[in-house]
Amino acid sequence: MKNVLTIAGSDSSGGAGIQADIKTFSAHGVFGMSVITAVTAQNTQGVFAVQDITPEIIAKQIDAVYEDIDVAAVKIGMVSQIDTITTIADRLKQHGARNIVADPVMVSKSGFHLLNPDAEATLMRELLPLADIVTPNIPEAEVITGRTIATLEDMEAAARQIFALGPRHVLMKGGHLPGDSTDILFDGERFVYFKSPRIVTKNTHGTGCTLSSAIAANLGQGLSVAEAVAAAKEYITIAIEHSFAIGKGVGPTHHFY
Ligand code: PLP
Repeated sequence: MKNVLTIAGSDSSGGAGIQADIKTFSAHGVFGMSVITAVTAQNTQGVFAVQDITPEIIAKQIDAVYEDIDVAAVKIGMVSQIDTITTIADRLKQHGARNIVADPVMVSKSGFHLLNPDAEATLMRELLPLADIVTPNIPEAEVITGRTIATLEDMEAAARQIFALGPRHVLMKGGHLPGDSTDILFDGERFVYFKSPRIVTKNTHGTGCTLSSAIAANLGQGLSVAEAVAAAKEYITIAIEHSFAIGKGVGPTHHFY
């Protein structure tokens, strides 16, 4: 069995963050491991408090895993602060980490800043160049590129601009645009479109976390980036189809089927 690591924040309500990642890893038949960057107090209605883990403890978690275990792929999610990001980048370089998926998590669906806005430039400078694939949604891509994204052409232009920051692939996710959900993969030369019908549900908590960890699980099992994205897109579509309400707000997707 392959070992796959998530470096991300804990979601007490289990729909996003580390919990979504580990469930996704299990559903893909890989062994999930976690480096926790922050503990959030949240439920389906919002994020109420965050305790960041110190950079020292984040570094020690990463070292403990990489010094002992073969890590086939790693996904990076919530990274609240500048020194969180520089620490992770430093340790991943030190350990020669491979198959790096960076989900540039910024603001939760409920509007909470999971990434301190002061740290956006550091994420772009330090983390994106390490990534084999980066998976921005439209609001994140708008922050990264400084442009408004309203069409597929805008998405392609944003993907080019983000690619120039150094990742090997950009998956520009179009779920925030109306109509079908179209994601565009850019490898520096070609655009590949992944389209799925829009599923009408309010229960989409943790969809970005789930997609990026599915990509990491697939890369860890030896799929190419394009194959990993295609399979992950199918997985998240089915997971959203089977999403459900667990509280009063935005419920989670279903990870086991
Ligand atoms: N909480 C944590 C710890 C996360 O890593 C994420 C990931 O994006 C979220 C919440 C956001 O979840 P959503 O915006 O899907 O509600």
